[in-house]
Amino acid sequence: MARDPRYDILFEPVKIGPVTAPNRFYQVPHCTGMGWQRPQTLAEMRCVKAEGGWGVVCTEYNSIHPSSDDLPHPSASLWDDSDVRAHSLMTDKVHAHGSLAGAELWYGGIRTANMMTREVAMELDSFPNGVGHPFQTRAMDKTDIKTFRHWHRRAALRAKDAGFDIVYVYATHGYLISNFLNPRMNTRSDEYGGSLVNRTRLVRELIEETKDAVGDRCAVAVRFSADDTIGRDGVPIYGERREMFEMLSELPDLWDINIADYSLEMGVSRFVKEAPLEPYMDFVKSVTSKPVVSVGRFTSPDTMVSQVKRGIVDLIGAARPSIADPFLPNKIKEGRIDSIRECIGCNICYSGDSIGVPIRCTQNPTMGEEWRKGWHPEKIAHKGSDSRVLIVGAGPTGLEAARALGERGYNVMLAEARRDLGGRVTTESTLPGMSEYARVRNYREQELLNLPNVEIYRESALTAEDVMATEPDHVALATGATWRRERFNGEAYVSIAAPGTTPEILTPDDIMAGTMPSGPVLVYDEDSYYMGGVIAEHLKAAGNKVALVTPADNISNWAGKTSERWRVRSHLMKLGVDTIVSHSLASFDGENAILNCEYSGAEKSLTVTSVVMVTQRRPNDALYHELLASVDGQIDKLPFTLKRIGDCEAPAIIAAATYAGHRYARELDAPVDPDQPLKHDRIDVGALTTITPEAGSN
Ligand code: ADP
Ligand code: SF4
Repeated sequence: MARDPRYDILFEPVKIGPVTAPNRFYQVPHCTGMGWQRPQTLAEMRCVKAEGGWGVVCTEYNSIHPSSDDLPHPSASLWDDSDVRAHSLMTDKVHAHGSLAGAELWYGGIRTANMMTREVAMELDSFPNGVGHPFQTRAMDKTDIKTFRHWHRRAALRAKDAGFDIVYVYATHGYLISNFLNPRMNTRSDEYGGSLVNRTRLVRELIEETKDAVGDRCAVAVRFSADDTIGRDGVPIYGERREMFEMLSELPDLWDINIADYSLEMGVSRFVKEAPLEPYMDFVKSVTSKPVVSVGRFTSPDTMVSQVKRGIVDLIGAARPSIADPFLPNKIKEGRIDSIRECIGCNICYSGDSIGVPIRCTQNPTMGEEWRKGWHPEKIAHKGSDSRVLIVGAGPTGLEAARALGERGYNVMLAEARRDLGGRVTTESTLPGMSEYARVRNYREQELLNLPNVEIYRESALTAEDVMATEPDHVALATGATWRRERFNGEAYVSIAAPGTTPEILTPDDIMAGTMPSGPVLVYDEDSYYMGGVIAEHLKAAGNKVALVTPADNISNWAGKTSERWRVRSHLMKLGVDTIVSHSLASFDGENAILNCEYSGAEKSLTVTSVVMVTQRRPNDALYHELLASVDGQIDKLPFTLKRIGDCEAPAIIAAATYAGHRYARELDAPVDPDQPLKHDRIDVGALTTITPEAGSN
């Protein structure tokens, strides 16, 4: 299909200092949970983005020295020649697709713990560690500043040696360089503190020195915040930012703009929609002639064109949209807009960095698996047989399995009990702020339209007899899971109904199906992710008095890994939802809920007429057991292979569901060695010399 000419502007080359980006699609630096530890995994993942049309592909943050070590959050590094070799894997692959490679140099200062290296972090002053560890930074003296500049220069030279085309001065996100700019933090009395000229001195020096070191061949980019501090959403507080821009405006080759509030810049879709940075940075192009890139979880090409035409940005920056769809640029180029796998703004990708493991993505199950499993987001092996496959259940698991099997050329029957496809994403997307979750269904439903070999049977709740009657060769049960009314007490699922009572105990499934409590309600959250908060908000909006109670020490505790926990809690507070942490729910009799403090065991009573249990889920595996029972539990006796996949196998997050569906499709007729299901990216020490213990030694 031809591309719509109105998107031509997105495919214009952009000159960035001594280099030229082939188009306006710019993958900004983003963490991957891979860093220096997994160079091959990383290189292949970035390669796929270049293949998909991103004109610039950057690394994650690159530590310039061991005194800036972020483990357990995996950063990349430019400490020595072995880093140069590791990065070359990526730059070669990116260049092979005609794209530019960018490296972000990073020194964390107050925000690094240096737990691995045990080096002392340097900062403006002797500050408490900014990420909660019980130690402080060393106040930089003038020699330290000189040493720091030397490290930065050395790292820039290594980036150039590794083949990078763009080298960053990273002056935002609360890391060392940005703190020099901050009038509240920088109270130095030397020439690096005090006046605006003094506070911007370090950035200026770094830009000039980086240009001097690598500027003959590499562009120098500056990552900079457009506003000074966090204000109300959409209402920037500029402070001295304009003046800073005016002072530095022509120095770098590229401005990469973000904002002070990370929870807005990288906000989840529940709270933040497309292009939220515009009101903060719409002035930047008026103070510089250099190209400007910024992010905004852009997935609509019309929004992208509008941003360029209105002079907001020159390059469309993206982290998450490039993760959800590494081929987004090529799909626009080829007029395949309907095939874009739009990011849903869930930030599961970010959780990899939070936890210290390779990145995953809800929409793109191949993300992070490019090297270790050889998965490609747009290519999949042709079918290995003429088998017919029956998939029962069209939630994210079943839809992805059907889509990927359909791509492989299999004849697929997809049976769904309901009229609507999508399972949990269809129901959950009706809850407050959750509408973008429906994109998980929309992308797959759209793709299925082009796959005549996939037949969809709606309103078809299959029984074991029905499954037998279809005579398939393979059956995958993607029948999902149902929220429980009980809670798990650490050993067993237990009811919270007080003996002899039958109080109103609801679940998220009841609420999503339309049952609403009429009086004061307690939402009990043992799940600790988004559902508790979303249900509480929904009930509050319907006029209920709501208390959200959790045994965890934080509301939506796990959502800290996706960066949304803080917004969830402040949002609920604003709405007037009472929040109680560190309390478990012991019993409920219809009038009083008895809570126990997790630390002291002290009892507390709450007067409510209903409880919504957001605890665990029960796999919907009755069909599986029925089918097994028909052959006395001997699965090999069935006339087809049988598997449970997704929530039906083990209830989990939506990213696990799309992954399970995809994996089923990949591995059909292409079984994977269960002893070695993936390649292991780590230092290979080579052949071992056998050590024979000497006689008499111990
Ligand atoms: P997952 O996240 O694993 O995809 P979901 O709960 O989102 O699980 O989706 C499961 C889907 O399976 C739901 O849409 C449900 O209606 C459907 N389903 C459950 N049991 C049957 C059945 N026996 N026949 C057909 N569809 C079923
Ligand atoms: Fe978007 Fe979620 Fe994928 Fe991240 S994990 S890229 S937020 S869909």
